[in-house]
Amino acid sequence: MDLGIKGRRALVCASSKGLGRGCAEALAEAGVDLVINARGAEALEATAAAIQSAHGVSVTAVASDITTEAGRDTVLDAAGDLDILVTNAGGPPPGLWSDWGREDFIAALDANMLTPIALMTALMPKMIDRGWGRVVNITSQSVKAPIPQLGLSNAARTGLTGYVAGTARQVAPFGVIVNNLLPGIHATDRADALDGGVSQKEGISIEQARANRAATIPARRYGTAEEFGAMCAFLCSERAGFIVGQNILLDGGGTNATI
Ligand code: NAP
Repeated sequence: MDLGIKGRRALVCASSKGLGRGCAEALAEAGVDLVINARGAEALEATAAAIQSAHGVSVTAVASDITTEAGRDTVLDAAGDLDILVTNAGGPPPGLWSDWGREDFIAALDANMLTPIALMTALMPKMIDRGWGRVVNITSQSVKAPIPQLGLSNAARTGLTGYVAGTARQVAPFGVIVNNLLPGIHATDRADALDGGVSQKEGISIEQARANRAATIPARRYGTAEEFGAMCAFLCSERAGFIVGQNILLDGGGTNATI
């Protein structure tokens, strides 16, 4: 299928590795020129070079912390005009409800709610002027079904979800299409860190921790960044113009719900 976005320009945040990189790769495969971002310059430059040589699109790498105002300004100054925005950042740490105070919530809201909102606020006016735009926010399955130890993430991402639900309907008349992608467990460094924690806590190998988790998923495996990226590229495509304000779960059936 021709996604119809060859020559468009996308910013993919937090994309030197993992799900963000999967999205960047799939957009590049569709012929989209990219601005990619992460804090660590070395991995980011290597990813930019790999994508450029595999797909022949232009890739600009901007190393900065996307969750800070200065970091966002650096990315936006380097990026110029953009047709597509994919928001992403690291997730907040796990814990117990009684562990967290105001500053922890402010940090989680800054990273996983106010950062995507700031990026949409900065970029959507020009998309509206041009009559075309696509935004995909990477959130989490935890907005559909809470992950108890990720209370900071549950709270911040659900706030973003509420914002998108209304805003997507305000910008759709102008050709700007906003949706959220909700990952369940995917095989990335983040999943390795989660399984490493279980391995230490339960005194089992990391392979056993991974196998135990996979056994709880109807698909009996973890998702891949490639699968995740393919859905992201579709939502950013010309073909997805009638999908507005949706929350699309990619979790191998892990969330036990009818709709
Ligand atoms: P990952 O493999 O750890 O990759 C994270 C990427 O984001 C790296 O490129 C990292 O590079 C970059 N990054 C992190 N914080 C950043 C920041 N403040 N500014 C700019 N770049 C930043 O993680 P992932 O598995 O792809 O997860 C992506 C998001 O999906 C996270 O929010 C995660 O909580 C969520 N999620 C993941 C899963 C899963 O199973 N993988 C499931 C549900 C939700 P640097 O470290 O160099 O900045």
